[in-house]
Amino acid sequence: MARIIGAIATSHTPTIGFARDRNLSNDPVWRPIFEAYEPVRQWLDDRKPDVLLTIYNDHVTSFFFDHYSAFALGVDQTYQPADEGGGARDIRPLSGHAPLARGLATHLMAEEFDLSFFRDKPLDHGCFSPLSMLIDSSRDWPWKIVPLQVGVLQFPIPTAQRCYRLGQALRRAIAAYPEDLKVAIVATGGLSHQVHGERCGFNNTTWDLEFMRLLETDPESLTHLTHAQYAERGGMEGSEVIMWLIMRGAMGERLNRLHRSYYLPSMTAIATAVWEDAVPHEHLGNGVDEQLAGAESLPGTYPYTLERSAKGYRLNRFLHDLVHSEQRDRFRADESAAMIAADLDATEQDLVKRRDWRGLIQYGAIFFVLEKLAAVVGVSNLHVYAAMRGESLEAFQQTRNAAIQYGVSR
Ligand code: FE
Repeated sequence: MARIIGAIATSHTPTIGFARDRNLSNDPVWRPIFEAYEPVRQWLDDRKPDVLLTIYNDHVTSFFFDHYSAFALGVDQTYQPADEGGGARDIRPLSGHAPLARGLATHLMAEEFDLSFFRDKPLDHGCFSPLSMLIDSSRDWPWKIVPLQVGVLQFPIPTAQRCYRLGQALRRAIAAYPEDLKVAIVATGGLSHQVHGERCGFNNTTWDLEFMRLLETDPESLTHLTHAQYAERGGMEGSEVIMWLIMRGAMGERLNRLHRSYYLPSMTAIATAVWEDAVPHEHLGNGVDEQLAGAESLPGTYPYTLERSAKGYRLNRFLHDLVHSEQRDRFRADESAAMIAADLDATEQDLVKRRDWRGLIQYGAIFFVLEKLAAVVGVSNLHVYAAMRGESLEAFQQTRNAAIQYGVSR
């Protein structure tokens, strides 16, 4: 089974990536940042985790307010560094551990943590800034990641208590994952800072150190603070430090602290810490993935799981794009060219060309993009339903109370 081998807490300011990319380790002003990460690197080199479950928040780079969610779990295979306005950093993409992400997703949803799931989104400094400090730039990433993006920028945001409880559920979810994996939990963000308004530049070192002490010894006490109380003590943007409570919830009651550092060069302290459980990881029982148990035996039924979503993503993306009139025009003008431009493979192109509605579903398309294709090619939804059942339109209509036809086209 998978197990948590330890936890890392780290700030995620852009300054860290800036220092790393310009190799400022010999500059006395920047040197403490490098020193702060040295013991963390050492711990990772010694303990060799397979996966870093990395808790971070995006800074309005890949996630915008057209659809903002509280807890977004990355389920992708690869994560590119994001362009945050000045071009993407010249660092390798990170590999995602998609099967673990899917396993955690299923477990956490069954425990009533209603996550959202993302792919195809680059990660900004919230994730890449600290991680890039943890390896030599000449090396490839030695671990995969599962990113958990927390929406902490647009209120209402999750409570500190909810973050802590999510961490506790995460601990059970990791323990329930069957593959032998060593997982390290990485919490990023914080500590005290404010980057907007007249209070911009606010810091509170006393609170930062108290927060780190309580996080280690009495995390429950931190779960009762409101966002306003966090903002009062640590600045408005500093309240992102509630993400550290997710990590803390995933750890055992008593911790061994292996490292801690604190350095305040500018707007936010650069803090790092490493902990291991004082008591070895107990067995927490099996998974709670019972929601879909039995669905596999329902005939002609294909639950749209994260696995199917991953397999059919490119095809579903192509068909979903038919909601744009320019894409419809391209498709109508030259189907093959449109599909090749979208990178569809030969199987996918063939399924679309033959309007193989049943085959498309079996392959991994979701019905709601098929009704878009149906609208474009001028057939009704009823036609698609009948084809999926392997019946003529007339035969299918006879199973309904009325012989009507409709679709999603005008
Ligand atoms: Fe941040």
